[in-house]
Amino acid sequence: MSTVAFLNIAMHGRVNPTLPVVAELVRRGHSVTYHTSPAFREEIEAVGATVCLYAGGEQPLPDPPTPVSLIEGLAGTAVRLLPAVLADLRRIRPDLIVHDNACPWGAVAARQLRVPAAASFTTFAFNRHVPSPTRGSWDLLAAALARPRGVQGYLRSRWELRRRFDASGLPWVDLGNIRQPLNLVYTSRAFQPAVEEFDQSYRFVGPSIGARPDDPSFPADRLRDPVLYASLGTVFNADPRLLRTFATGLASLGGSVIVSTGQTDPAALGPLPAHVLARRFVPQPEVLARAALFVTHGGMNSVNEAMYAGVPMLVVPQGADQPMVARRIVELGAGLSIRTEDVTKGSVRALAGRLLHSARFRAAAATLRVAQHEAGGHRRAADELERYLHAAGSVGQSAPVDPSQRG
Ligand code: UDP
Repeated sequence: MSTVAFLNIAMHGRVNPTLPVVAELVRRGHSVTYHTSPAFREEIEAVGATVCLYAGGEQPLPDPPTPVSLIEGLAGTAVRLLPAVLADLRRIRPDLIVHDNACPWGAVAARQLRVPAAASFTTFAFNRHVPSPTRGSWDLLAAALARPRGVQGYLRSRWELRRRFDASGLPWVDLGNIRQPLNLVYTSRAFQPAVEEFDQSYRFVGPSIGARPDDPSFPADRLRDPVLYASLGTVFNADPRLLRTFATGLASLGGSVIVSTGQTDPAALGPLPAHVLARRFVPQPEVLARAALFVTHGGMNSVNEAMYAGVPMLVVPQGADQPMVARRIVELGAGLSIRTEDVTKGSVRALAGRLLHSARFRAAAATLRVAQHEAGGHRRAADELERYLHAAGSVGQSAPVDPSQRG
């Protein structure tokens, strides 16, 4: 049996898909350590991993996470965290490191300790057809020139990384797209744009759902069909007026309306009809299993989970990769998209009504549901990691190991 170390950044969307994979590896007898911030401790321990906390408490990412602030933040965090992370990993002696595609300290640690590494993509996989938000581009250069202090900070951190650690495998700029010889992507081939352009190192394992802690306080037994669900995710500071508009727009169509308010206080939405439930956090996979419609920001996990449940979506992208995700949903016919500035009670009601009553959206969502289930999910991810470990083990430890290149 092997020891696997997961390293991640502190975001629900990045951590959630890894949890069922960890649980599955533990179930198969492997020992798993998970290197993370205090906020995620409980849910990670609940799936059987040993938690190693990053030194210095929470590691917040820049808000808003623009590409320039993100690469600056990631490089700076890597410099800060690596000494203690390396000390932990030297003690643990993992056989494999699995790190998020935006976790440079995972990639540097793997290279420095000569341990094979796999990357975990909770976004789309990126290439020239699906551009990574942090790729080198004229837009990034223009944004960088407008923020010279950010660029200086980034260059200082890069220099430190190079001086103190083996950062040779890191992309020079694209720190949100760190690849390895094995790249697990938590969506199906059907949803990934330009999927034929990706080589065999990319494994589209589909949504990794399960192993979430129970929430006994959620009144699942009181829900009435049709259940209509709205959420703008856990990262963006949602405008309470926008959330209220979703609630009131959906209220005339739904048996029950659920609004997850995330960072926003539910009380800020004001008084709502009795069949609208507004909460900071709801058990989303459980809600989606009952839902007839999902109004979403187009976060990749939310969308993967909705497709897994076969639920048509109204996407209201708020930033990051969400416009790209929204376009893909519309292209595949599984939903509609609307800009935030066009959201009114009337537009929400009209678009939601179309999604609920036109069979073509349900049919497209049902097709994607099959693809999402067939991709294999967390069990397939664990299979891929075991295969990779096996191939790496059979050739001894010399990094960077690329099992996909061997027999
Ligand atoms: N989530 C949840 N309950 C909520 C809101 C979100 O369980 O009330 C989970 C959701 O299931 C998903 C993650 O949080 O796994 C959100 O990730 P996503 O990529 O969709 O959006 P982000 O929060 O990163 O913007």
